[in-house]
Amino acid sequence: MSIAAFYKDTGDEPAISFELFPPKTEKGKLAMFGHLERLLSFQPRFITCTYGAGGSTRDKTLEIVGEVKRKYHIPVASHLTIVDATQDDLRDYLAAAQRDQVDYIVALRGDPPSGRSFFQAASGGLRYANELVSLIHKEFPEFGVAVAGYPETHQESTSPDDDLTNLKRKIDAGADIVITQLFYDNEDFYRFRDRCDDIGINVPIVPGILPALSLKQVKKITRLCGSRLPKEFESRFHQKPDDDAWQRQVGIDHSAHQVEDLIKQGVPGLHFYVLNKSESTTAILDSLDSLGRLSV
Ligand SMILES: Cc1cc2nc3c(=O)[nH]c(=O)nc-3n(C[C@H](O)[C@H](O)[C@H](O)COP(=O)(O)OP(=O)(O)OC[C@H]3O[C@@H](n4cnc5c(N)ncnc54)[C@H](O)[C@@H]3O)c2cc1C
Repeated sequence: MSIAAFYKDTGDEPAISFELFPPKTEKGKLAMFGHLERLLSFQPRFITCTYGAGGSTRDKTLEIVGEVKRKYHIPVASHLTIVDATQDDLRDYLAAAQRDQVDYIVALRGDPPSGRSFFQAASGGLRYANELVSLIHKEFPEFGVAVAGYPETHQESTSPDDDLTNLKRKIDAGADIVITQLFYDNEDFYRFRDRCDDIGINVPIVPGILPALSLKQVKKITRLCGSRLPKEFESRFHQKPDDDAWQRQVGIDHSAHQVEDLIKQGVPGLHFYVLNKSESTTAILDSLDSLGRLSV
C-alpha cells in the first residue's frame, strides 16, 4: 500500500503512526517492544525508526524495523540520512532495506555529526534530502517516501520562503508525504499548512507530536530542533518543578489539547515521537477515544 493512501478518506479519524529509535542495549530493546505492544492497540498504520540520530548505530535501524515487521506484520519505515554516506553506501542500505521488506523510507539529510557545526556532504555523497528522494525514486521506486517539513522553518534555512521552496523540491523529486518537526503551538502548523497549499504542495502533511516529559527535557529538545516553547505552556511546568508526575501530566495535557484541535482542523494523520515509551501517548490517545475521536 502506498504511504499516502493511509491518509486518504480518513474522515474525522486521523491515521496514526509511531516513531521509535534504536535502543542501545538489549534491556532497552525488550522494554521498547513492551511499550510498542501497548501502543499497537491504537492500530497505527505504520511504525518508523530513526537513523543515526542521538548516537545510535545505523545497522540497528534495519534490525528494529525488520523485527517490528516480522513480529507484528505491520508496515514499517526506516529513516535514512545522507550524513557521511557515499551514494553507493546509500544504495547498499536501500538494497538491504528492500531485502528486509521495509515498506517506506523517511528520507533525510540529517544533522551535522557532533563536533561539526555545519553539514558537509561526504565525498561522493549527496548534499540535500531532495537528492536522496530523487535517488530513491529513480533506483528504488517501490519504496514510499516521507520527508521532513518545518512549521517554524528549518534552523539553517536562509528564509521561510526558501525553506518551503526546498520542501517543494523534495515533493517534486517524488516524496509522498511530509511529516513535520515537533511544534507546541498549532498556529505554527496551520500557517505552514496554508503556505504549503499556496505553493502547490499537495501531499498529506502529517503533524509530528512529541509529548513533553518535563520542562528540562522539552527545553533541551526545542533548543536542539529550533522549535518554540510557548510561554503559557512553559509556565505550567514551573508550578511544580520537582514533581515528576506533574511535569509529565503537563506534557500530556498540552499534547492532548494539540491533537484534539488538530483533528478538528482536519489533519489527515498524527505522527507520535514516542521515544520508545507508551505512557504519555497512551494517555493522549485514550483521551481522544473518550471524546469519540478514535474507534479503537
Ligand atoms: C520527521 C523527522 C524525522 C527525522 N528523523 C531523523 C533521523 O532519523 N535521523 C537524523 O539524524 N535526523 C532526523 N531528523 C532531523 C533532520 O535530519 C534535521 O532536521 C536536518 O537538519 C535536516 O534534514 P532534512 O531532511 O529536512 O534536510 P533538507 O531537506 O536537505 O534541508 C536542510 C536545509 O537545507 C536547505 N535546503 C534543502 N534543499 C536545498 C537545496 N536543494 N538547495 C539549497 N538549500 C536546500 C533547507 O531549507 C534546510 O535549511 C528528523 C526530522 C524530522 C522532522
